[in-house]
Amino acid sequence: AKFVFRFSEGDKDQKDLLGGKGANLAEMTKIGLPVPPGFTITTEACRAYMRDGHVPPELRVEVTMAIREIEDTLGRRLGDFHEPLLVSVRSGAKFSMPGMMETVLNVGLNDASVKGLAEFSGDERFAWDSYRRLIQMFGKTVLDIDGELFAEALEAKKGAVGAATDVDLSAEDLKALVETYKQVVREECGREFPQHPREQLDMAIEAVFGSWNTERARLYRRRERIPNDLGTAVNVVTMVFGNLGETSGTGVAFTRDPSTGHSGVYGDYLANAQGEDVVAGIRNTLTLAELEGLDARSYGELMQAMRRLETHYRDLCDIEFTIERGKLWLLQTRVGKRTAGAAFRVATQLVDENLITMNEAISRVSGAQLSQLLFPQFDGEADRTLLTRAMAASPGAAVGEIVLDNAQALERTGAGAKVILVRRETNPDDLQGMIVADGVLTSRGGKTSHAAVVARGMGRTAVVGAEEVDVDRGAGEVRVAGRTLHAGDVIALDGTTGEVFLGEVPVVDSPVMRYIAEGLDAGLAACGDDAMRELVLAVDRILTHADAVRRMRVRANADTAADARRARERGAEGIGLCRTEHQFLGERRELVEAVVLAGSDDERGAALEALLPRQRQDFTELLEAMDSLPTTIRLIDPPLHEFLPDLTELAVKVAVAKERGQVEPRDVALLEAVSRMHEANPMLGLRGVRLGLKIPGLFALQIRAIAEATVARRQAGGDPRPEIMVPLVGSVRELQIVREEAEAILAEVGEAAGTVLDLPIGCMIELPRAALTAHRIAEEADFFSFGTNDLTQTTWGFSRDDVEGAFFADYLENGVLTISPFETLDGDGVGALVVAGVTGGRQTKPNLHIGVCGEHGGDPESIRFFHTAGLDYVSCSPFRVPVARLEAGRAAA
Ligand code: PEP
Ligand code: MG
Repeated sequence: AKFVFRFSEGDKDQKDLLGGKGANLAEMTKIGLPVPPGFTITTEACRAYMRDGHVPPELRVEVTMAIREIEDTLGRRLGDFHEPLLVSVRSGAKFSMPGMMETVLNVGLNDASVKGLAEFSGDERFAWDSYRRLIQMFGKTVLDIDGELFAEALEAKKGAVGAATDVDLSAEDLKALVETYKQVVREECGREFPQHPREQLDMAIEAVFGSWNTERARLYRRRERIPNDLGTAVNVVTMVFGNLGETSGTGVAFTRDPSTGHSGVYGDYLANAQGEDVVAGIRNTLTLAELEGLDARSYGELMQAMRRLETHYRDLCDIEFTIERGKLWLLQTRVGKRTAGAAFRVATQLVDENLITMNEAISRVSGAQLSQLLFPQFDGEADRTLLTRAMAASPGAAVGEIVLDNAQALERTGAGAKVILVRRETNPDDLQGMIVADGVLTSRGGKTSHAAVVARGMGRTAVVGAEEVDVDRGAGEVRVAGRTLHAGDVIALDGTTGEVFLGEVPVVDSPVMRYIAEGLDAGLAACGDDAMRELVLAVDRILTHADAVRRMRVRANADTAADARRARERGAEGIGLCRTEHQFLGERRELVEAVVLAGSDDERGAALEALLPRQRQDFTELLEAMDSLPTTIRLIDPPLHEFLPDLTELAVKVAVAKERGQVEPRDVALLEAVSRMHEANPMLGLRGVRLGLKIPGLFALQIRAIAEATVARRQAGGDPRPEIMVPLVGSVRELQIVREEAEAILAEVGEAAGTVLDLPIGCMIELPRAALTAHRIAEEADFFSFGTNDLTQTTWGFSRDDVEGAFFADYLENGVLTISPFETLDGDGVGALVVAGVTGGRQTKPNLHIGVCGEHGGDPESIRFFHTAGLDYVSCSPFRVPVARLEAGRAAA
């Protein structure tokens, strides 16, 4: 294999091999943008390193060739004592993992080349500062020395010479510091700081490979569902310096505002600084407009480069750039992360600018982003106490207790509290706290700071750069607006406006939600400003297009008329699953209990009799709410333990009563019946069609109620479209028996009412055997609906009620799973059964109508799978209907 690619050799489509950063550096080089010369070591080399425990021998040779090429092009030598070539060694995986892995800058500096750098830069102080930074960074990340030791030495030096900041240290001071740092290395590692540039380079490359597997990197990947076995690429890039005085600097820029989607460039610039200073949010930054004032020529070049990138990628891009003595260099670009709102606005802007089509526009947004926009927002009318206003870095409305570090965050959320992580600035070590927090507030840093980037990626509400907030972690205090707050005090963050409030603030529906539920006019009327109106219009255009192109219909899972109406408002085109057992909760539970436990036919008959009018009423209301739309009513499917009294509790009650000599005969009989029906695995027991076949009259009651409700609705002038669905079928014969019974009842009720009730009768496919014998089952079925919850449970043999808490964390950690198969369909296993079921069913009935009603029906990735598998519809919870409409459109576009 070839392990090293020059920037001139790769392109943006090689992210698997070159990582995101490497692929884009290559692309920029290809289109002629100013990228410092460099090369990328492939992810394959990293995988070989992880597998063998050492770098492949060919790699060293290829690195030599690549370095020599750069040296020859530039006429400089790595680590030379005269005008030395220095390089940075940066990680770059396929998926961006901001700040999670290592970077080493200034590789190539040693006791000789530091003098060459001084001479080349004409700045001795700068050269020694670069050298001490190398030893510090290299010591920490490559040699694994505790970073505090260097920080302490630096502080000690500052103290000794009375320097207030790093900048006050002279070249001589820094030279002395380098000696101290070298001493630290000697003491901690028992070896000298490596002087040979090539040795530095090789060690740094290995360290970057190794950083793929640090604890925090693994945690980040688990959270972002990035597979553990991808490995990272390594980019070796000629160093350019943003800290060579006032004509130098470094910055980050976006081709459009990633937070709101406003068109027009946006970014942060720091004069006389190195890249890490901006991303870490250590100093407050200048805007690009201010850069124009400083250096109009570089600014002009930057604008041109950004325009070029946007046209080339046809999307919002972000870049990192450095200006070295008036010369612009681009160090990174990628299609930029953005907030959900910005994603919708930017997509429609690009359509209006004729850069992309509507089909592409819907591929640029996701169901997950749409669902973020449906979140409630703070009530602007409510009384609230504004503490401060800062940068809105990631939208949402978060209310919670202040926590000041990871430990507090974990402890309080563990106790069920909602928390806001408040920090001066965040760095990758704060990731755990950010994961569990509802919101993040920092007092420093811009929209491109670590806190902002990571929070946006995770969909956490974030407000950053709140300079009036003084975070004193030592004292456990946060001082703002003349108040002193403590951990545990409640604050509210508005990630859309950047406002921070004291105490609880009530929340209201988002305008996008209003639009979804009540239409465009209502949505627009709910908007407070033009930006929001633009967003609602963008969502409308995109959803309208998704609706037009999607093949699959979207139904909702709804058990009551109220749920059904809510689903219909959100665009549901029918009900894919009405779980009738949910109609037997509360006081009716006892009637079901009586039906199941009845000692005699009479007893059972009476209970069924009492249930009939109630069920008829349920169905009449449901069919009215869903008038003219298909309404799939599933016959009762109770895992019995949910309906019967708990065996242990009942046994204890009877035992205690016996002890006291006050035992009720009714309880004894009940205990006897419950013990008789007790199951070790209720989910695999007397459920679904099995219950219907075992208990006479139960299904018949429901079928009759559906038939009578249909008649009632027709007589009222309605257009009811019920479909009868039989759960947990494993054999065609089960369905056949129920079908015969159902047809008889439908004929009888229809005849009595003088109408024809030819309602579709179908079944769930939720057992492997059903999927595998679908061609037989289809003989008796008018439709199929995949119950992927039970199908996942029975395919994996995972109890759906138990496993997620029991061991999924371990399975995710060690890579057996990358995501819970109950959330996203396991395409290889459960998905294969879905495909078999579709194929078998349509072999018998080519036009068999097929849908899905398990949780996966609302999951973006699974929706794509169902589209490809040829399903006619997905059915999901009412809240996810808009998401499913969008995703079904994206799958078809
Ligand atoms: C299923 O199993 O996927 C399903 C929809 O049914 P339930 O969740 O009610 O078992
Ligand atoms: Mg099921």
